[in-house]
Amino acid sequence: MRRGYFGPVLVVFALLVGVSLLFSEIYITQVVRQTRIENLTESLKKQAILIAEQLDPGRGGNLDDSCRKIKARIGSRVTIVSWDGVVLGDSDGAAAEMENHLRRPEIQQSILQNTGSSVRFSTTLGYDFLYFALRTGTAEKPSGFIRLAVPLKAVNDSIQELRHRVLGALIVLLFVTGGFSLWQAVRLRRMVGQVTDFSTSLARGELKSRLILEGVGEFGQIATNLNTMAEELRELISSNELENERLGTILKNIPDALLIINASDTIVLYSAAASDFFDQSLVNRPVTEVVRNPEFLALLDRAKKTRLPEEKELTLLLEGRERHVIVKVAPFFEVVTAGEPACVLLFSDITRLKQLERMRRDFVANVSHEIKTPITSIRGFADTLLEEGFQDRETALRFLGIIRSNSDRINSLVDDLLTISSLESGTVQIQKKDVALEGVFQSVVGNFERKARDKGVSLKVILSPSVPAVRADERCLVQILTNLVDNALKYTTHGEVTAGAEAVDSGVSLFVRDTGVGIPEEHLPRIGERFYRVDPARSRAEGGTGLGLAIVKHLVRAHGWQMNVESRPGKGTTVRILTDPLA
Ligand code: ADP
Repeated sequence: MRRGYFGPVLVVFALLVGVSLLFSEIYITQVVRQTRIENLTESLKKQAILIAEQLDPGRGGNLDDSCRKIKARIGSRVTIVSWDGVVLGDSDGAAAEMENHLRRPEIQQSILQNTGSSVRFSTTLGYDFLYFALRTGTAEKPSGFIRLAVPLKAVNDSIQELRHRVLGALIVLLFVTGGFSLWQAVRLRRMVGQVTDFSTSLARGELKSRLILEGVGEFGQIATNLNTMAEELRELISSNELENERLGTILKNIPDALLIINASDTIVLYSAAASDFFDQSLVNRPVTEVVRNPEFLALLDRAKKTRLPEEKELTLLLEGRERHVIVKVAPFFEVVTAGEPACVLLFSDITRLKQLERMRRDFVANVSHEIKTPITSIRGFADTLLEEGFQDRETALRFLGIIRSNSDRINSLVDDLLTISSLESGTVQIQKKDVALEGVFQSVVGNFERKARDKGVSLKVILSPSVPAVRADERCLVQILTNLVDNALKYTTHGEVTAGAEAVDSGVSLFVRDTGVGIPEEHLPRIGERFYRVDPARSRAEGGTGLGLAIVKHLVRAHGWQMNVESRPGKGTTVRILTDPLA
């Protein structure tokens, strides 16, 4: 339990006041007593001088009567003593019976200083006496002493009364000052309590509370200062919170992996994208453990040495995957660290850009190659025809046939390229409506009947009666099925090609199945990429452009559907398209 402050202070204060009052009382009464004795001594001296003028101890004889007479007039005990200490007369006793007075302190003192005084307690009477002695005669020829004595009872009594009065006054004073101090202490205690409560609420974070101190005079400034402090603290904290919120928003939403490392290369802050990008714990880890790449480490070293920003394109191996990044390192100085700088690191993932760039390069190379082959062929046959003329009509017709089929190839290539480009540029708008599958299948298959017959391949449609209409863009659906049936026939030399649809749990599954050459498993993941062919020569021989499945893939994706290719080499291929669940 915390001990109170005001209790002990009040006790000490009361003790101090009590002790000082006691001392004051003792001092005052002492001083007054001393003054009264001095005054009394002074008056005894005057009386003694007057007595000495009438009575000379040098005369000798019994002076008791004279002493009694004098006492009757002045009230003090009178004793006449000879120079050798013998009592010659005493107002209160018989001089003859009295002992020698030479050793009495007041007599001793008067021998030396002409007068002497002493205060002694009378055991007979039970109170103090003041004795005064005057040496008589001249300095050269002293004759004796006149001693006067008065009881100090009256003095003591009046001192006692004074003491009581002083004590009473002091006690009243003690109560008045004590009461006032107590009242002030209670007020002070209440104020300190208010300040304590206020500081406790500040410590609890209640920065909106305010301190109101009334009737506390100059202490009111404390309240003003504390309130100003609370307000400034509140503003500081809310601006800090705002800054933190902004920083949090930046770190959460910045699309790049951002790391902030301290002077000892430990990660202290990172963006949400950084956790996804590095896919491992980053909190308080050394960046050299997270990014284990010598080129990166050299870049970091250089930036820290030169203290200038550095930037480099790097290939990082993260979790077994290659990631192309542009790394930017910006050194900065933390307030607390002298010497080594801390750094902001930004990893911009350009893997996708790189892929796109590669795809674009491949695409240009593929298109050039695809176009160049038939053009070279056309040019070759045209040259031969021009050189040799048309003597051999049959050869000439055959050459012209080849020229025409090559120009057809260029034509279909350009058609497919235009389709792909319009699909990729988003100019093709998918307009879904309910499409009855029966009609679509019959019309697509109908276009290939002659080709199938020529190849000796049976071509049929299987539609289960329960298959409902699908929501699709009809023109696109026709294009999808045409490309799939075309492929099936191209890569099937015998057997059958079946196109159809069946209802499945999650919608309608459209399929085109053949008993053709099939696709080896390792090629399956890349089937549908532009110009990706399992057997380029065969594809070309069949008039393929290498873009049919890429177009199908685009259209399927544009509908929000899924495509799946199952194939066994030598046995055949089935391409399935899973359409939307029906509304
Ligand atoms: P292509 O014009 O070459 O047929 P596609 O994009 O239509 O181009 O097909 C890409 C490649 O996929 C083809 O070259 C072929 O190797 C393979 N392929 C497509 N469909 C089939 C299928 N039904 N049977 C076997 N291979 C196929």
